[in-house]
Amino acid sequence: MEKVVESQNLGFETGLPQSELDCCFGTRKPYRLVSREYQKESSVIRVRGVEFGPGRFVVMAGPCAVESRDQTLRIARAVKEAGAHVLRGGAYKPRSSPYSFRGLGLEGLKILREASLETGLPLITEAIDLECLPSVCEYADIVQIGARNMQNFALLEAAGKLRKPVMIKRAFSATIDEWLAAAEYIMQGGNEQVLLCERGLRSYDPNTRNLLDISAVPVVEELSHLPVVVDPSHSTGKRTLVAPVSKASLAAGARAILVDVHDRPDEALVDGAQALLPSELKDLVESLRKIASAMEVTLK
Ligand code: PEP
Ligand code: MN
Repeated sequence: MEKVVESQNLGFETGLPQSELDCCFGTRKPYRLVSREYQKESSVIRVRGVEFGPGRFVVMAGPCAVESRDQTLRIARAVKEAGAHVLRGGAYKPRSSPYSFRGLGLEGLKILREASLETGLPLITEAIDLECLPSVCEYADIVQIGARNMQNFALLEAAGKLRKPVMIKRAFSATIDEWLAAAEYIMQGGNEQVLLCERGLRSYDPNTRNLLDISAVPVVEELSHLPVVVDPSHSTGKRTLVAPVSKASLAAGARAILVDVHDRPDEALVDGAQALLPSELKDLVESLRKIASAMEVTLK
C-alpha cells in the first residue's frame, strides 16, 4: 500500500506528526521555543558585562585560528585597543581539507583563556564535536557551533544541556527555518542563551567567498526573539568587503558582528585574505559608532 501524504505536510521535514506541528502555535513551523509567538520580547544575552540585544551592538574580533601564544596575545591586545568587546579565536578548526591547519586544540584553548583574562574580553570559540565540547565549555564564555555542524544534532543536544551562551552559525545551504529548528534543539535542552549567526550561503559567484543573506537579519527579527549576529569575514572572504558589510549589518538590525583580525595576514595559517588589520578594525569601530549613534544603539 502506498503512503499518501497530504501536500500541506510537505513544507519541511520535522518527523513530527501534524498534530504536534499544530502545537507549534499553529505556525506550521519546525520550531516553537525560538519563535516570536512563544516569546514576544527580544531575548537579551549577557556575558561578562557584554549584552546582545536591542539597542546594543557588539564587536567580536580576533584571529580565525590560534597559531601561537605570541600571535594570539598580540592580536587580542590589538583588538581590545581597537574597541572590540569580545575576543574570537579558534583552537579547533573545522577544515575542508585534512591537510590544512586544524588548530592547536586544548593548548589553543589555554592560550585563548590567557588572552581573554589579560584583556578582560569575554571569549567565543568553536566546539567542533562532542569530544571537545566539555573543554571548550570550560574555557569559553560563548560556545560557537560552526556552519558545518549546524545539523549535528548530537552536538546541538549537548549544547542544550550547557548553561552558557551558544552561538549557532547558519549552514551554507540551510534555509532560515532549518537554522531556527537547529536553534530549537539547543533551547529544547533548557539552554535559553542562544545567538544566531548569519555567515553567508554557497553561491555561484567567485567574487565573494559566500553570499551574505543580509535579509536574514530582519527576517529572523520577525520570526524569532533570539539575537542575530553577522560574520562579515567568512561571508565575503575579502578584507576590503568586511567594513561595508559590517555597516550594513548594523543598519539591518544585527546585534553583533564576528570579525577575523590578524596583524600579519600574509603569514596567517587560516583565512588571511579576509582578516582586517588591527588599524582597519579601529577605523571600522569608529564608523560603526557613528551609525549606531544615529540609530540610538550603544556600541557594546
Ligand atoms: C569560523 O568562524 O572560524 C568558521 C569556521 O566559520 P564557519 O563555521 O562559518 O565556516
Ligand atoms: Mn576562518
